[in-house]
Amino acid sequence: MELPTWDLSDLYSGVDDPRLEADLRESLRQARDFEQRYRNQIASESLMASRLKEALDEYETLLRHESKPQAFAQLLFSTHTSDDTVKALVQRVRELGSEISTHLIFFDLEIGRISPAKFAELLQDPLLAEYHHYLDHQRKLAAHYLTEPEEKILEETANDRGRAWRRLFTEITSGMKYTLRHGNEVKELNQSQLMALLYEPDRSLRQAAAGALAEGLEKNAHVLNFTHNTLLHEKQVIDKLRRFESPEADRHLDNELSQELVDTMVGVCVQNFDLVADYYRLKGELLGLSDLKHYDRYAPLSKDREELDFEKAREIVLEAFGNFSPRLAELAEPFFSKRWIDAVVKDGKRGGAFCAGVTPDHHPYVLLNYTGKPRDVMTLAHELGHGVHDRLASKQNLLNYHPVLPMAETASTFGELLVFERLQRDLESDEARLAMLCEKLEDTFATVFRQVSMYRFEQRLHQSRREQGELAVETINALWQECMQEMFGQALTLGEDHRWSWLYIPHIVSTPFYVYAYAFGELLVLSLYARYKREGASFVDKYFELLASGGSMPPTRMLEKLDIDISQSSFWQGGCDLIRANVTLARELAERTRARA
Ligand SMILES: [Zn+2]
Repeated sequence: MELPTWDLSDLYSGVDDPRLEADLRESLRQARDFEQRYRNQIASESLMASRLKEALDEYETLLRHESKPQAFAQLLFSTHTSDDTVKALVQRVRELGSEISTHLIFFDLEIGRISPAKFAELLQDPLLAEYHHYLDHQRKLAAHYLTEPEEKILEETANDRGRAWRRLFTEITSGMKYTLRHGNEVKELNQSQLMALLYEPDRSLRQAAAGALAEGLEKNAHVLNFTHNTLLHEKQVIDKLRRFESPEADRHLDNELSQELVDTMVGVCVQNFDLVADYYRLKGELLGLSDLKHYDRYAPLSKDREELDFEKAREIVLEAFGNFSPRLAELAEPFFSKRWIDAVVKDGKRGGAFCAGVTPDHHPYVLLNYTGKPRDVMTLAHELGHGVHDRLASKQNLLNYHPVLPMAETASTFGELLVFERLQRDLESDEARLAMLCEKLEDTFATVFRQVSMYRFEQRLHQSRREQGELAVETINALWQECMQEMFGQALTLGEDHRWSWLYIPHIVSTPFYVYAYAFGELLVLSLYARYKREGASFVDKYFELLASGGSMPPTRMLEKLDIDISQSSFWQGGCDLIRANVTLARELAERTRARA
C-alpha cells in the first residue's frame, strides 16, 4: 500500500534551511522592536483605540511570523522523534521562542492593567471590533498572571521543566518496542501496530496484544511514572502561584467554559453510563462470551474485515464530504493533491493522529498512522474535519483563529458521522449494518464516556498528588482501574494488565484535562447532526458559519446563534439519548438477524 508522506517544503526545505534561522532571528528582532515601541504605552490612561489597534495588528503579524519555524520543527519532530538533528532543532526553536516571548510578556500584562473605565471605553470603539474577544479573554487570563520578572523566569525555565518532561515522554513512548508473543510467533511492534491488533477478530491475538502493551509499559513504568509525578507537582506549584482554585480551573478558563457547565455535562454522562453496560451485555451475547475483558471492547463482529487502501479511503471521505456540500469536499481535496498528509507507519514516528493548523495564511497538516482498518478511514475523516475547520477559520486573524478545544472537535466528529453514514449506505445485510453500528457505538463510547472517565481520573489523580505527595505507580494503577471500570458496570471486566494503560496516554501529560473536550464535541455534534437531518440543505450554511467563526467568540455565544443552550443538562441528555437510540437499534438488528438464523 502506497502511503503519502507530507511535503513540508512550503515551510522550509529542511533542518539546515538558512531561512529557518533567519526567520527566528527576524522574529526576535521584531519582538525587541515591539517591546521598545509599546512598553508602558498600553496600560495608560492616554491610550487611544487606534494605537492599541496598531499594536495588536503588529503583535498578530509577529506571532504569525514566529509560528512557522515553530510549526516546522514540531511537525518534523512528530515523524522523526529519534533523529538527533531534529531533536536539536526542536530545542533550538523552543529556546529562541522563549527568548522572543520574554520581550512580549509585557503586552498581555499591560492589557490586564488597563483601568476598567478605560478598558470599557476602548471596547466601545468599532476600530477594535475584531479584537474584542481577544482583549476580553486576555483580561480574564491576566487575573492569574504574576509580575513581569516572575513571568519571564517561568518562560525562560519552561523548556527545562514541563516542556522537557513532555518531550521526554514523547521520545520514550514513540520509540518503545513491544514484544508480541502469539502462537509460535514472536514479533517486535511499535505502539501503532500493536494497538491496531485490538481490533482483530481473533481473541487470542487481541489478548496477546493487550499483554504485550502491559509488559512494554510496565518495563518503562519507572521513568513514565516519574514523568507524571513531576508534571503533577509542577502543575500544583504553578496553579498555586497563579491562584487557580482547582487543578482543572486553568483548562476551563482556556476553554472559555465555566466549571459549572463542565460539571453539568460530565454529570449527565455519568448518569448515562448504564447504556454502555447495556450495550456490552449485548456484545457479549453476540460474541458468545460471558466474560468480556478489556481486550474485547473493540472486537469486530464480522470476521471478514476488508482492508481499505489509502486511495479507497480518500474516495470514501471526499464523496461523503461532497454529499454534505461540494464545498466541504473542495476544502478537503488539497490535503491529498498537495501532500498535506503524512500517513505512513514507521519507527520513530509518533503514534495516533492529529491535525496541526499553522496560521490563517498557511494551510494545516494532518498526521496519521494508516494501517488500512475501517477505523483508519474514520480517523482520516476526523483529521480532515479539523483541517477543513482550520481552512474555514482562516478568514480570522491569528488571535481569533484557533477554536477552543471543545469546539475544535466539532468538524472532526461531524466528518466522522458523514463517513459513517456513507459507509452504512453501501451495506446490504442487517449483519453488516449491525457490525458497523457496533463499531460506531464503541467509538462513540470511547469518545464520550471513556473521556469523561479519564477526566474524572485526572481530577482524582491531581487531587491525590496534592493530598498525598508523590504517588507510587501501583497507587495510580489502582485509581485508573477504579475510574475506568465505572462505565462498564458488571458487563465487562478490565483485566489486571489494563492497569498500566494510563501510562501511554499523551493528553494526560501534554494537556491536562483536555479529554472532556472530546465528550463535549461528540455530544454537541450528535445534536448538530440530528439538526442537519431535520433541516437538510438549510443547515449547511449555518454549519459553515459556525466553523468559520474559529476562536473569535466563546462557545456559549457561538452556539446561541444556533439556538443551542449548552448550560442546560437537557441539551447534554439529548445527545446521550441519541446514543441510547443507537444501542436500541443495535439490539433490534441483533434480534432480526438471530430470528433469521
Ligand atoms: Zn480531534
